[in-house]
Amino acid sequence: MLRIGLGYDVHPFVENRKLILGGVEIYHTDGWGLAGHSDGDVFFHCIIDALLGMCSMGSIGEYFPETYEFKNINSGVLLKRTWDMINKKYKINLNNIDSVVISKSVKIIPIAENIKNNLSKILNLNPQKINLKGKSGNGLGVGGEDKGIEVYCTILGDVVELQNDS
Ligand SMILES: [Zn+2]
Repeated sequence: MLRIGLGYDVHPFVENRKLILGGVEIYHTDGWGLAGHSDGDVFFHCIIDALLGMCSMGSIGEYFPETYEFKNINSGVLLKRTWDMINKKYKINLNNIDSVVISKSVKIIPIAENIKNNLSKILNLNPQKINLKGKSGNGLGVGGEDKGIEVYCTILGDVVELQNDS
């Protein structure tokens, strides 16, 4: 059955932190990174929530709480764990991923291919089925005022519940 998942996430900028987006480390001229209990990778968090939404399995916080285990963790690891977890319950054939990244100071086009490749490897999905759109926010909102980065995404997949023989 075709199912769609919607993801949204936002993280504030902080000084003197690595800026990680979609598993790509980005040089920020002001030395800003994204705050968060994990590595703050707002893009991968958004993808995780969309995958969980596609499978009606809740949200990221239910699986990866703000405990010591997940402190500063690479969000690519969380994405891989999510993907493995939902694949135990469903047979999933991803159709495509579309996303919107809103940031005044982080330009998406130069890093889009790297992000697509990272996502493609974790989800075993052709990078041509992944799309990223960068928006400046036109001076409005969290991204537009450069207080942080916002990401929206949708994921469409063919999702079939696996028979539980146990
Ligand atoms: Zn997050």
